[in-house]
Amino acid sequence: MKLVNAHTTLPTQRLYIDGEYVDATSGETFQTINPATNRVICDVQQAGDEDVDRAVITARKGFLHWSRTPPVERSRTLMRVASILRERNLEFAYLETLDTDRPLSETTTDDVIYASRILEYYAGVAQTLRGDHYDLAPDNFAIVRREPLGVCAGIGAWNYSLGIAVMKAAPALVCGNSMIFKPAELSPLTALKLAEVFTEAGLPPGVFNVVQGDGRTGQLLSRHPGISKISFTGEGGTGRKVMVDAAPTLKHVTLELGGKSPLIVFADADFDSAMNAALVGNFFSAGELCCTGTRVFVERPIYDRFVAGLGPRVTAMRVGDPFDMETQVGPLISKAHMEKVLGYIEMASASAATHVVGGRRPDSPELQDGNYVTPAIFCDCADDMQFVRDEIFGPVMSVMVFDEENEVLRRANDTVYGLAGGVFTSDFARAHRVAIALEAGTVWINGYGSGPPSLPFGGVKQSGLGRENGLATLDAYTQTKTINASMSAMERYY
Ligand code: NAP
Repeated sequence: MKLVNAHTTLPTQRLYIDGEYVDATSGETFQTINPATNRVICDVQQAGDEDVDRAVITARKGFLHWSRTPPVERSRTLMRVASILRERNLEFAYLETLDTDRPLSETTTDDVIYASRILEYYAGVAQTLRGDHYDLAPDNFAIVRREPLGVCAGIGAWNYSLGIAVMKAAPALVCGNSMIFKPAELSPLTALKLAEVFTEAGLPPGVFNVVQGDGRTGQLLSRHPGISKISFTGEGGTGRKVMVDAAPTLKHVTLELGGKSPLIVFADADFDSAMNAALVGNFFSAGELCCTGTRVFVERPIYDRFVAGLGPRVTAMRVGDPFDMETQVGPLISKAHMEKVLGYIEMASASAATHVVGGRRPDSPELQDGNYVTPAIFCDCADDMQFVRDEIFGPVMSVMVFDEENEVLRRANDTVYGLAGGVFTSDFARAHRVAIALEAGTVWINGYGSGPPSLPFGGVKQSGLGRENGLATLDAYTQTKTINASMSAMERYY
């Protein structure tokens, strides 16, 4: 097993089409950069229109074969992929750490294992796929089949690249579709390795393909008449463009977008548990997670104690080299993103909010080349401050005080987003009242962040359309066909 390290450079990466690596015809390349050093890891070939056409033709061929493959066989293939990923956990985790900035302490315990769990879940589901039967009259029945859509495209965000690729591919493939996946430019590497594993596990050529490139490649996919569905993960602004581009060919669209999720802590909550949730809900993955609970509302009787407790816990967090297993917070994905996050921190510092801790570049000389920002907390924030309203997608927590349940619900829901939320209380009835009233796709009660593959995940309001994970996703990768069968002669009407 060859593990990459912080100094690894790789040869130029190509596209993966029809079960093998192929050169792009565009002649263009882009670079993928190590966020911990800002050194180039490798060049990556950009897919142009001919390459996307080729991927679609291949995926169509793959679809014709794969959609007729019995579900039990699809299930076995996905299980083999899952077990190869588990065996090669370290290899994938190290590559993800090199490319995406997430510390090894997370990638070795989360990313690859989570991807395997998704594959195992849908492999289990494969043999339960079914339609419906209707008895309409003694001589008339109907069956409603669930049929795959055809060629589906997945467009991924950079923050969880292997997980996002699998979250799209596993349900798509189990339903009999083929997929063309475009990873984000900032983290293109593990999707290619995943494609290799699909082939190694026996997936027929053309069923899972990877095209690389920037927004132009994404646009070629969204507009392509040979593609039936786009499953997109990214920012709302890009999601809207995808929807517009997909409209002329009436594609099915799933959008997994951003959030600015509330975490509500009542005074009767288990204090330590709520504190743990606020920290992990804000600083796991350096806050580069869509469902982070960045608006922390704390009830007045415990507010001062809560804020006072956060500072020392954050100061003790280990920010540093993502390849060090002790590191808890790694660098941010790119220099440009770091500048954006630092801009929000500057804005927060200049506001009437109180700066509690963090939010600066670390002092150690060995971290100067990377995109490091120490986890930041601001308290006494107001709901209308821009850094409290915008998705920052970095390690910045805003803490607000509240006095009463209806008030906090109104304030928590006062956002265009609706991806997730959390409530901490020991009052069972209140926990459920709040969970139901929160406008969000997922609400955690006395916890934050877990998302087993069996549970649907996705946003309401401007956090998205449709769901990933769970049985709900099967509907998004299939369409029904009604077959209405008569056993008697049709009567003369005219
Ligand atoms: P992004 O800038 O919107 O990019 C997402 C993907 O879209 C990338 O692959 C990007 O390619 C591609 N793209 C760019 N322009 C396009 C266009 N016109 N047509 C089609 N595709 C296009 O988002 P990001 O910065 O990668 O990711 C961060 C965002 O993702 C945050 O808002 C976060 O909350 C959200 N997110 C949501 C979830 C969820 O499940 N709800 C999960 C993870 C992340 P390039 O990379 O080459 O630009």
